Amino acid sequence: MPAPAEQEVDLNQTYDAVIVGSGAAGGMAAHVLTSHGMKVLLLEAGKKLDIEKELKSMEWPYDHPRRGGLPPDSHALSRNEYTFRKPPYAKGLPNKHVYSYVEGWTGADYSKNIVVEEKDNPYTGSNYAWVRARCLGGKTNIWGRLALRLSDYDFKAASRDGYGEDWPISYADIAPYYDKVDLYLGIAGHKENLPYLPDSLFQRSTRLNSAEVKLRESLAGMGRVLTPYRAGVTTDGLKHNKYRSRCFGRGACDRHTGGCDIHAAFDSPTGLIYPAMDTGNLTLRTNSTVHEVLVDQNTGKARGVAFVDSRTGKSYEAKAKVVILGASTLESARLMLLSKSRMHPNGIGNSSGHVGHNFCEHVMGPSVTGLVKELVGKPRTLDDGRPAGFYVPRFRNLAERQSNFIRGYGFEGDSGTHMFPGHADSTPGFGAAYKKKVRDYAGAFISMGAFGEVLPRYENYMDIDPNVKDRWGIPVLRFHYHFSDNEKKMAADMADSAREMFETAGIEIVGVDREILTEGWSIHELGTARMGSDPKTSVLNQFQQSHDVPNLLVVDGSSHVSASCQNPTWTIMALCWRSCDHLADQVRKGEV
Ligand SMILES: Cc1cc2nc3c(=O)[nH]c(=O)nc-3n(C[C@H](O)[C@H](O)[C@H](O)COP(=O)(O)OP(=O)(O)OC[C@H]3O[C@@H](n4cnc5c(N)ncnc54)[C@H](O)[C@@H]3O)c2cc1C
Ligand code: SF4
Repeated sequence: MPAPAEQEVDLNQTYDAVIVGSGAAGGMAAHVLTSHGMKVLLLEAGKKLDIEKELKSMEWPYDHPRRGGLPPDSHALSRNEYTFRKPPYAKGLPNKHVYSYVEGWTGADYSKNIVVEEKDNPYTGSNYAWVRARCLGGKTNIWGRLALRLSDYDFKAASRDGYGEDWPISYADIAPYYDKVDLYLGIAGHKENLPYLPDSLFQRSTRLNSAEVKLRESLAGMGRVLTPYRAGVTTDGLKHNKYRSRCFGRGACDRHTGGCDIHAAFDSPTGLIYPAMDTGNLTLRTNSTVHEVLVDQNTGKARGVAFVDSRTGKSYEAKAKVVILGASTLESARLMLLSKSRMHPNGIGNSSGHVGHNFCEHVMGPSVTGLVKELVGKPRTLDDGRPAGFYVPRFRNLAERQSNFIRGYGFEGDSGTHMFPGHADSTPGFGAAYKKKVRDYAGAFISMGAFGEVLPRYENYMDIDPNVKDRWGIPVLRFHYHFSDNEKKMAADMADSAREMFETAGIEIVGVDREILTEGWSIHELGTARMGSDPKTSVLNQFQQSHDVPNLLVVDGSSHVSASCQNPTWTIMALCWRSCDHLADQVRKGEV
């Protein structure tokens, strides 16, 4: 279905709410508030792409002049550049276009207009691999789709191990909203009944292939679990959404950062924003870069936002009774810090001084690759026809502390035959014998990489650089963030346990990577405006509402109190749904 017609933007009107950002968070806020009948203006900094033309999910590598690779005038930042240079990484590079590291992945040409141009969007400070998407839908256009719930092992982690703060909610508070997200957007997966990784309301699961089943069976003997990838993908279809199709297992999922042009994989425009536009209550303005939350100087309450047109540079204001930030964790913190006024001299909602602080994410790097010898030379299988392979949930520090670090990590992995056979580059030889070897080994490799919880620490923070501005003249973020000892000890254990699990399963080890990747690599940035019940040590209440400014909500990952080791997007959306329901109720009662 084509996108719905857009309503005309009326900047003389005072909207019930203005939402900043159209990714998972902003899209969900638009869906929930418009379904409550509120008149909403959604401002998105990036453009609206003709996304089907960008993604071309059915194009084979050999139909593309560079097998999906970037044009020669473009450059994707490498691991070495992030390690040995300091941001702004694009400064001084001769290339016409510079992108973050994800554009070094297969199929980058299909997503180059989705991610930001690093030259226009600099940042400074400590090393950080910041992946951003500026277009309608933000990063949801290219996300990896692993859709996991958090549990009270996460929400009440501080009570369990004494570090940091508990969340101001427990699993029982958010569980009904996880259910709503599952049913509204669709999620594929397999029930495992694990208290530390609650099941969703799953649609048909994707299938494990034989190498993955072999590992699952062996892990069961170790008291560990391997479950099919829990994917934010509708495998059975969604009768209530005409913009999305069920997954046909067509193969393009292996083209990482490639997206899904039939929208079986969740993306915010087709999953949330277009249906919200169909209510008649949502007005969308793309190319609108917000740089300040405006304040009523008498009451200190938010009265709207100031933005520049991203194409013309012209300045505008939008008026609203409620301002909702969903610009992504780091961009929302930037906006709050930029919004200084007489009433809010440290930035809006920042009387605690905690905005930009307590940053957390996932530490990555350690991984293992193995060879399942009995699969060499076996007929090739279609393993691209599913969103991904498997997930091994956390097994450390659950019943009791079992390690020299706190919290835990999980593994994402897969095996099988892929459109882009990753081992082809490292296979020696040439000619017909080389091709046969690549084909024979195509489905026999299995690999997995870990995602571990980074502890939130006050001293890990971002502030505004007083000297550097982006292309629109807006001051940029400056990073002050480093991994701690806990993350380093955890990473060492990730590599050891990965090796142990493969060896126990009888999988021949091809390689174990022990190196930690640069901060930010996980693309799971969280914290910076955490929730809590004490306004002195937190920024938002349990409904993501500013303690200082009750008509300001921050509905993205910045509100998260700790990172857990599970991927955050499903939780971002469940929390946002809960907060927006609460807000609509308050609006009805005249309390906001
Ligand atoms: C390659 C990749 C793989 C990923 N894999 C997974 C995964 O498997 N599982 C998972 O849970 N998560 C994954 N993620 C992360 C996931 O995409 C994010 O958690 C999610 O998109 C966050 O939603 P958000 O709305 O906070 O931010 P975004 O999706 O980034 O949306 C923010 C939007 O705000 C807009 N914006 C920013 N600043 C402004 C401004 N000043 N004014 C107006 N608009 C603004 C941006 O243009 C953007 O459209 C992945 C991300 C990437 C890139
Ligand atoms: S395998 Fe399914 S989710 Fe992945 S690109 Fe194809 S249709 Fe979309």
